[in-house]
Amino acid sequence: MKVLVLGSGQLARMMALASAPLNIEIIAYDVNNQNVVHPLTQQLINLSLEQAIDDVTVITAEFEHIPHDILDICSQSGKFQPNPDAIKAGGDRRLEKALLDNAKVSNAKYHIINTKEDFLNAIDIVGLPMVLKSALGGYDGKGQWRLKEHDQVNQVWNEMEELIKSSPNQAMVAEQFIPFNREVSLIGARNKNGDMVTYPLTENVHVDGVLALSTALEGTSELQQQADKMFSAIADELNYIGVLAIEFFDVNGQLLVNEIAPRVHNSGHWTQQGTDVCQFEMHIRAVCNLPLNGTELLRSTAMINILGEDSLPKNILTMPNCHVHWYGKEKRAGRKMGHINVCASSSENLQKELATLSTILDNDAFPVLA
Ligand code: AMP
Repeated sequence: MKVLVLGSGQLARMMALASAPLNIEIIAYDVNNQNVVHPLTQQLINLSLEQAIDDVTVITAEFEHIPHDILDICSQSGKFQPNPDAIKAGGDRRLEKALLDNAKVSNAKYHIINTKEDFLNAIDIVGLPMVLKSALGGYDGKGQWRLKEHDQVNQVWNEMEELIKSSPNQAMVAEQFIPFNREVSLIGARNKNGDMVTYPLTENVHVDGVLALSTALEGTSELQQQADKMFSAIADELNYIGVLAIEFFDVNGQLLVNEIAPRVHNSGHWTQQGTDVCQFEMHIRAVCNLPLNGTELLRSTAMINILGEDSLPKNILTMPNCHVHWYGKEKRAGRKMGHINVCASSSENLQKELATLSTILDNDAFPVLA
C-alpha cells in the first residue's frame, strides 16, 4: 500500500519510518515548493500532485496549514483522511472554537475580533487579562499578545491591526486568560467504524512558547477519563479518521481544551519508545483502516526536544535508555532538529535518568533540564 502525506517535514519522515515494517510506503508532498518527495531523503519523485494522487490508496496530512485548493483537489479524489473540515478547523482558531462549542467541551471564553470595536467589546465579554491569538497561521505561541491593563489597548490594537490587515481572511481571537496549573495533551486515534484508542495523557513544559519536555503521565485515571470523554466528543463531531491531538489546560484537576491538532503531534513523540504502537504507526493504521491497539504505557517515558542544535555529546549513547531521533534538517536557531526519548522502569528512575542526562547535555541548549 502507498500513502501520500501532505507536508514533508519530520512528521511525514517518522510516519515513513513507522510504516515501512508494515510494507506501507509513504511519499510526501512539499506544499511550499509543490514537489513530491521521498520523506526521508527529500529526494525528488518525478510525479505531479495529480499523478501522486492517482498513484496512492490513501492521502493524509502532517500539518494543518495547507492551502485550501490543495486540500480540495485531494478530497475530491475520495482518498483523503481525515476529512478536510478537521484540517481547516486545526488551521483556523475561529473554526476551532466553533468546533469545541459544538462538541460541548470546556474551553476558554472567547470573542472574535475584526475591528477595534470588536476588540473593545471583547474586553467586556472576555475580561482582563486576556490572550489574543491570530485566527490563521499561529503556532508555538507566534502571533499572540497578552492584554493585562486597559492602558495597553491602543498599543496592542496598533500591532494587531497590522497583522489583521496583512492577509485577507486574518482576524484575532480574544481568549480569557486561564490560570492553569499545568498543560497536558492527549493523543488518540479514531477509525472509519468510529473505534477509538487514546494514549496516556502527557504533561508538557514549554520554554519561550515552544514545547521542550513531554512526560507520559501515570496514575491519573480521573483526569484521563475527562480527557478521553472530550476526545471522543470532538472526534465524533468531526467524524474523524486518523490521529488527533488535543492540548488542555489543567486547572486544579479540571481540563479545558486549549487547541486541537488534526495530526500526529510533538507531545506524542514519546510513544515511539513508551508504547507498542507509536502515534505515527497508529495514524497510518487509522487512515488505512487497520486495527487500532497498543497504546498502553510500557515504561516511564519522557521526550526532550532538540532545538537549534545539530549534534549532541557522543556519550549520550552510553545511556541505552536514551533514544535519539534526528530529523535530518539544516541547523537554524530554535528550529526543531530532533528529539530524545528517555525511558526508565519507574517515574522515580525516570527523574534520575533526566538528571543524568542534564549532566551530559549543554544546559544552555536544554534549559528545561537545568
Ligand atoms: P497556543 O498557541 O494556543 O498553544 O498558545 C501558546 C501558549 O500560550 C500555550 O501553550 C499556553 O502556555 C499559553 N496560552 C495560550 N492560551 C492561553 C490562555 N487562554 N490562558 C493562559 N495561557 C494561554
